[in-house]
Amino acid sequence: MRVAIIGAGHVGSTAAYALMLRALFREIVLIDANDTLASAEAADLSDATALAHPTSIWAGTYEDAASAYIALITAGTPTHGSETRISVAARSALIVARCVNNLMSSGFAGIVVVAANPVDLMTSVVLRQSGLPPSRVIGTGTLLDTSRLQQMLASALHVAPSAIGALVVGEHGDSEVIAFSSLRIGGLTVAEFASPLEEPDQLRLAKSLREAAYQIIQGKGYTSFGIATSVVRICEAIVRDERSVLPVSSLLSGQFGIQDICLSLPCILGREGRIRVLQPDLAELEMTELRASAAVLQGALAALPWPLISPAAMPASSPT
Ligand code: NAD
Repeated sequence: MRVAIIGAGHVGSTAAYALMLRALFREIVLIDANDTLASAEAADLSDATALAHPTSIWAGTYEDAASAYIALITAGTPTHGSETRISVAARSALIVARCVNNLMSSGFAGIVVVAANPVDLMTSVVLRQSGLPPSRVIGTGTLLDTSRLQQMLASALHVAPSAIGALVVGEHGDSEVIAFSSLRIGGLTVAEFASPLEEPDQLRLAKSLREAAYQIIQGKGYTSFGIATSVVRICEAIVRDERSVLPVSSLLSGQFGIQDICLSLPCILGREGRIRVLQPDLAELEMTELRASAAVLQGALAALPWPLISPAAMPASSPT
């Protein structure tokens, strides 16, 4: 089974490494506008395979992506300093649209996993530009935010992150919503387990979560391990047909009255991609915040310079 990774930068190459270690794919093709970078990353990754898992890894073209089961899109405009994800939307959208045109021209008919930011908008861009069904276009969404929240609460409550039942929904970004009402530790509410999470605690936690990526970017210039592991988890659920429930970004069609926009809600993932979007039990305020998050994304999606690329300007098979 093959995965095509479009964008072999920090996120793409780290995802390739993590996918290789998990032995999910026999073949990994890296496609990047910077072919020298893709070739170097492929060679470096190949050096690890003999000690890890037999995997063919090479720098390729969109023709190599045609038979991929999953195409991962990480090509985009990374944010710097305190730049918000949405502020780079127009630049990322043009890159992503170009990659999707090239991918679809190859005859690709698999599942697209989108990591490029702002990931909810880029998931909507992939959906519109590719013509693929909504079940086969999945953004990494708030899976990363949810796992960050699990880790933060786990260290405060001295339990394993996996023991924390947590959920972040909406935008992967500044309007994300923590479903505080559904937080559970072994079936207990936080108040039953330890002490109540008062409003100031909730606000502090939400702020730390929103700022987590900015702080990492200030320190090392980019984030890679958390997002790469999120990509692996999504690919694993799909390839192994797990029917796991993960908070990922996909097209909503009326859930909580929201439609025509991609954002995160818990979804069942399996071999066909997104099998079902679940509508969790949210508190009234959380539902209001979720609709506000959708409105932020709808406004930003409408503000993109549509049409992103006219078919005439679209190179049929250029890797750029
Ligand atoms: P990076 O600059 O290291 O890598 C981007 C790569 O894309 C570069 O190698 C570049 O050459 C390539 N590229 C650009 N245009 C291309 C094109 N038209 N075709 C093929 N390749 C092209 O950036 P990064 O740190 O790897 O981040 C990549 C994206 O992932 C950014 O949008 C970033 O914001 C996003 N990201 C998302 C999450 C998340 O949670 N979803 C987390 C971290 C980063």
